[in-house]
Amino acid sequence: MRLQDRVAVVTGAASGIGLATARRFAAEGARVVCVDIDATNARTVADEVGGEAVVADVSDEAQVRALFDGVAERHGRVDVAFNNAGISPPDDDSILVTGLEAWERVLRVNTTSVYLCCKYAIPHMQRQGKGSIINTASFVALMGAATSQIAYTASKGGVLAMTRELGVQFAREGIRVNALCPGPVATPLLMELFAKDPERAARRLVHVPMGRFADPTEIAAAVAFLASDDSSFMTAAEFVVDGGITGA
Ligand code: NAD
Repeated sequence: MRLQDRVAVVTGAASGIGLATARRFAAEGARVVCVDIDATNARTVADEVGGEAVVADVSDEAQVRALFDGVAERHGRVDVAFNNAGISPPDDDSILVTGLEAWERVLRVNTTSVYLCCKYAIPHMQRQGKGSIINTASFVALMGAATSQIAYTASKGGVLAMTRELGVQFAREGIRVNALCPGPVATPLLMELFAKDPERAARRLVHVPMGRFADPTEIAAAVAFLASDDSSFMTAAEFVVDGGITGA
């Protein structure tokens, strides 16, 4: 029970990695705040894990500010922020076809949201003199992944750079900021992409030395480690859980 009575905010908790992490955090003793734009599933997950649902769009400043201030007011503290909500463009996202509107939408949901969540979580953690922030990036930000996903890759590169910057800036205040870099995970986000383009799935699998996609629970286990004091000397770091892709 490494997170006993810690207050943990999970964004994108209604599905995939966020859902698996909400379950894992609850199993480790945390009070879990399940945040998602998908109200129905956020409430279902919150009921399942005995937590609280907050329906919010994490790319909207007023909603993110209200989220963290509300959590601090209701629970007295914010111990963990898992900034995980994200989107992946369904179609070819090559730079030659990606329009400015699509680019800005992906950057807003994947990167601006992380900026906002950090901005409004950190003051509460400063007051406590302690906190752990985990930002979901991706293995694609660590390599030329040949995914033709220019906006997605750039959005995750921004998350990595921001994580390093904040990890260093707040290290002496007891606030740790780390990035999670999952490889391909069998979640709705990825499976929907691959259902439309099975060849893309096959191409992706070739590059995974383990020869399979991750189960969301395997990513949640890594997040629980980063959230807990077991990772107390880790900050401004990238935690890669990718079945060997970036090592190959
Ligand atoms: P998913 O689609 O299963 O879940 C994402 C959740 O985020 C959904 O519940 C969705 O409703 C929510 N969401 C989307 N936009 C939101 C917004 N503006 N405000 C609040 N909630 C919002 O996806 P997933 O695969 O679990 O992905 C989670 C994170 O992991 C994403 O940041 C994704 O980029 C990253 N990631 C996924 C993979 C993978 O292979 N699945 C690999 C590397 C990184």
